[in-house]
Amino acid sequence: MRSPAVFLDRDGTINEEMGYINHPERFIILPKVVEAIKFLKAHKFKVVVVTNQAGVARGYFPEGLIERIHKLLQAHLKSKGTCLDAIYYCPHHPNALVPEYRKDCPCRKPRPGLVYKAVKDLNLDLDRSYVVGDRFTDIELAHNLGIKGVLVLTGYGKGELEYIAPKHPLRPHFIAKDLYEAACWIVKDAHSDR
Ligand SMILES: [Mg+2]
Ligand SMILES: [Zn+2]
Repeated sequence: MRSPAVFLDRDGTINEEMGYINHPERFIILPKVVEAIKFLKAHKFKVVVVTNQAGVARGYFPEGLIERIHKLLQAHLKSKGTCLDAIYYCPHHPNALVPEYRKDCPCRKPRPGLVYKAVKDLNLDLDRSYVVGDRFTDIELAHNLGIKGVLVLTGYGKGELEYIAPKHPLRPHFIAKDLYEAACWIVKDAHSDR
């Protein structure tokens, strides 16, 4: 049977929002993220990160830094007895400074390209999957995929709720104080649904 997945945003959802993460020292994992990932995996969800990293296109840091940070992240999770099933990123931007990354990319969230790639690579059950993120672009991604989206109040979340939500046509299916609370809601929701 195909597994459902939880598609996690990266910056502001699993690590502290600090603008562009242009150095490994700026990658600081938020509290209870490890527990949240473990909880989701214990309940048979694949856990997959989908992240826009346009800092590459803007010439702020090389693509290799993203790979380096993701290796560090996986090593940290492994030392705690868990891991992410996959990490996908879009390094492009339509107005990029760096020509080879200048692209109106179908992977750039809220477009669904990264998730579709994950669904194919990992043979996921998209209809039973969820998106979690700290911005309304993540909620738009969920909407574009036809699945449920959870807004976390870490990262940009509180500001998005206060200033973006009132004028935005979409609503998150749930608003969670952090990823752990999001994970608990998702597991409950998945069971109540069927
Ligand atoms: Mg974010
Ligand atoms: Zn891209």
